[in-house]
Amino acid sequence: MPRFVVHEHHATHLHFDFRLEMEGVLKSWAVPKGPSMNPKDKRLAIMVDDHALEYGSYEGRIPEGSYGAGAVVIWDKGDYELLRGNVREGRMELLLKGKKLKGTFALARMSGKEKEWLLIKKRDEFAEDGFQMKTVLTPSLLKKLTTKVPPCEAS
Ligand code: MN
Repeated sequence: MPRFVVHEHHATHLHFDFRLEMEGVLKSWAVPKGPSMNPKDKRLAIMVDDHALEYGSYEGRIPEGSYGAGAVVIWDKGDYELLRGNVREGRMELLLKGKKLKGTFALARMSGKEKEWLLIKKRDEFAEDGFQMKTVLTPSLLKKLTTKVPPCEAS
């Protein structure tokens, strides 16, 4: 079963990185507001470079001067199933089995756009209309993070 991970990334601007194990790499999208369990939220997801699979377990502080400098922690992770579509056609339906993200989601490229996608929860028994994003990084967790350069991007 392939895995997904959502990184909470405290860079210049806090954002979330949604990553799917697919075709031997982590297909990755930067989601400024983070994923939502509310089907009414349409979350902008900007496709970024593929990352190496090893990056999926990365937590740490990306050092100053490196790309994405700042703290990275795992916000959620789990198995997923690709229910339909594929990344090339720019339209996927995913079944996520995380601790926070559960059930079906649509991830689709906006028409006429290259990198801009939308991540939207589909209505099912897991949908939460009152969903509020809560970050996981606390001062004590921040202290535990070591400074290390993350595994390089997949080439
Ligand atoms: Mn990031």
